[in-house]
Amino acid sequence: MPEENYDRIITKISKISGLEKEEIERRVEAKRAKLSGLISKEGAAQVIAAELGISFDNEKLKIEELLPGMRKVNVSGKIINVSPVRTFKTKKGDEGKVVNLFIADETSNVRVVLWDTNHIGLIEEGKIAPGVVVEISNGSMRDNELHLGSFSQIKPTNEKMDEIKTEKVFREKNISELKNSDNVKIRAFIVQSFEPRFFYVCPTCGKKVNPEDNGYICPDHGKIVEEKRSLINVVIDDGTETIRTVAFHKNVSALGLTELENLEELANQRANLLGKEMFFSGTVRNNRLFNTPEFIIENIEEVNPDLLIKELEK
Ligand SMILES: [Zn+2]
Repeated sequence: MPEENYDRIITKISKISGLEKEEIERRVEAKRAKLSGLISKEGAAQVIAAELGISFDNEKLKIEELLPGMRKVNVSGKIINVSPVRTFKTKKGDEGKVVNLFIADETSNVRVVLWDTNHIGLIEEGKIAPGVVVEISNGSMRDNELHLGSFSQIKPTNEKMDEIKTEKVFREKNISELKNSDNVKIRAFIVQSFEPRFFYVCPTCGKKVNPEDNGYICPDHGKIVEEKRSLINVVIDDGTETIRTVAFHKNVSALGLTELENLEELANQRANLLGKEMFFSGTVRNNRLFNTPEFIIENIEEVNPDLLIKELEK
């Protein structure tokens, strides 16, 4: 949860600086107000930490506490998966290697990118593999990935990690900062919606099926009774930029569009969408047709007015 993450950062800043948590939160809000809300609470907390001369360098952190821009990161985690080794030509013409892996602890998970041939050697020898707990030191956060170069260390440890969080993590980000394949949570207003569209899927495997002469045929399940699904494109705006999104089926209803067959009601519901502020979690991908970034919505939450009021009262 981003909220817990924020709280943990504030607690850490408070412990190191000796300032009350309330005072730090007040400074965070003041910083955000000054920047017209264009920075996340976590980002603002990091700026306050820097202003207080606090660095998280060499502190052992939980994965959830890792923030973009952090240097000299120390963290432990259990390896969930390892990508195949990829090779590339460096500028000098040498052969370089790179490997991505995911590590998880009880708070979260993060992609780790290895660039050093010694580290990659540990993978090739099978010393670093899924299920192994590793200790990492001196890594640096590039965006939401932990990068390890030749000054970093990664080694297997005996540390036990039974409970790990492997579900996809959505980190809060502004639209202007989005990169391809980011998993993020965005708080934004709906500024445009398009006509919903429909498609049909196999009820067993969920794959898209197209009508044939004698009904709907799934390549895996033969003749099936098709299920109708909906999708809609909406454009969202968080004050930094806009992005086109696509919401499927359950998220079409989460947007409040329930009367898809009743054109008049649908028009009303679509009109009500405009200007509505919500939290959108999902993944950024490149739309091949338009060659522009597109946001695939996986979850939608209402902005809880009670929480907002509490925040404003602070
Ligand atoms: Zn099927």
